[in-house]
Amino acid sequence: MASKAGSKASSGQGAAAKKGGTKKPKGKQSGKGKGAQAAPLFPVREDEKPWTTAEIEELRQELENDVRRALNDLKTAEEDLQGLIWDAGDGSGDDQADAGAKTYEREQELSLANISRDKLEQVRHALDRLADGTYGVCEICGQAIGKFRLQAAPRATLCRSCKEKTERG
Ligand SMILES: [Zn+2]
Repeated sequence: MASKAGSKASSGQGAAAKKGGTKKPKGKQSGKGKGAQAAPLFPVREDEKPWTTAEIEELRQELENDVRRALNDLKTAEEDLQGLIWDAGDGSGDDQADAGAKTYEREQELSLANISRDKLEQVRHALDRLADGTYGVCEICGQAIGKFRLQAAPRATLCRSCKEKTERG
């Protein structure tokens, strides 16, 4: 799909002190060809079963759909916004109320665009984490976020307790 070359290569290499992650045994792994291969790269909580590649694949697809959706929303919002800006140009005859409504509308579109942009950012971040093998690790405490939680919220980057802490401020 249309993968725009990521504008900012945020992952500076300094932090990439490898934890032995990059090695991928590409050779034959004497798997029994049972289909449900384990994907041990990604952590789970103690009471959860390891991820299977199928489950990871499902999450990836969900995230990729999210990217498409967010891009679409963003495009729509930006086009609407553009229209509103053009509109504002020839609004000489508008009365006060009209002008107010247009400002309001523009603010709505702006915040929609911002929401889509944030979402896009988060989804891309999740996909990056899938790609570099850090997916599923809480970005604050380093524990497993948990399969259950990720399947409900594939973009999550924090475990539940860290998330709750940040929300409490
Ligand atoms: Zn945590």
